[in-house]
Parts: sequence; C-alpha cells; structure tokens
Amino acid sequence: MQRSGQWSCRRRDTRDESREPRDERRETRDEEKQMLELRPNCECCDVDLPPESTDAFICTFECTFCRGCRNALPGNRCPNCGGELVARPIRPADKLLKHPASKIRVVKAAGCIEMDVVA
Ligand SMILES: [Zn+2]
Ligand SMILES: [Zn+2]
Repeated sequence: MQRSGQWSCRRRDTRDESREPRDERRETRDEEKQMLELRPNCECCDVDLPPESTDAFICTFECTFCRGCRNALPGNRCPNCGGELVARPIRPADKLLKHPASKIRVVKAAGCIEMDVVA
C-alpha cells in the first residue's frame, strides 16, 4: 500500500480554516477612546487654537497652551501638572468631520505666568 502525499496536504488545509479572522471593528473603537479633545484655546491667554494650528502644545492631560505661553513657562512645562508640553498633532480635515474638535474652552482664571510657579 502506497501513501499519497495528497492526504497530508489536505490535512494541513483543514487546520488553516480554524484560524479566526481579526475583528477590525473593535480596533477602530479603541482608537476613538484614545482620541484627543483638541481644545479650542490656550489655557493661559485664551487665544484661539484651531485644530489645524501648529502653535498648540499639550501635556499628557491635554492642558493646552499656545506657543508663546509655552515658551514663557518655566522649563516649558505644564503649570497644572508639571508635565512636558509637546506640539499637538494635527488631525486631518477629513477625520475632523467625523471626530470634531472640542468646543469647550478651558482657561485658567488667574492666568499662568503670574501664578506662583514652583521652580
Ligand atoms: Zn497662550
Ligand atoms: Zn498638564
């Protein structure tokens, strides 16, 4: 009795079918959860910072500042949390239609520069 190579090939095919397809929809939902607020203004001087602005800087909590205020802050750090302020990434215009920027303005009543900042 001769063994045909075909049999082992077929068995391998069956094993491949048991693989589960990846759920791409779930990955998209995770992406939305991590979305930035894109606040519309600087927390210090209340200047407008539209989503396409390259002058917007944020900390890890999304405290948002303009370039001028950020440069004036000691160590270029967030006056609220002491965290690093980095350039806010620009959201592409087509993504803004589906995920618009926040309209809630956050402003520090006392301002930032005049505040007692612990060096
Ligand atoms: Zn500012
Ligand atoms: Zn902060």
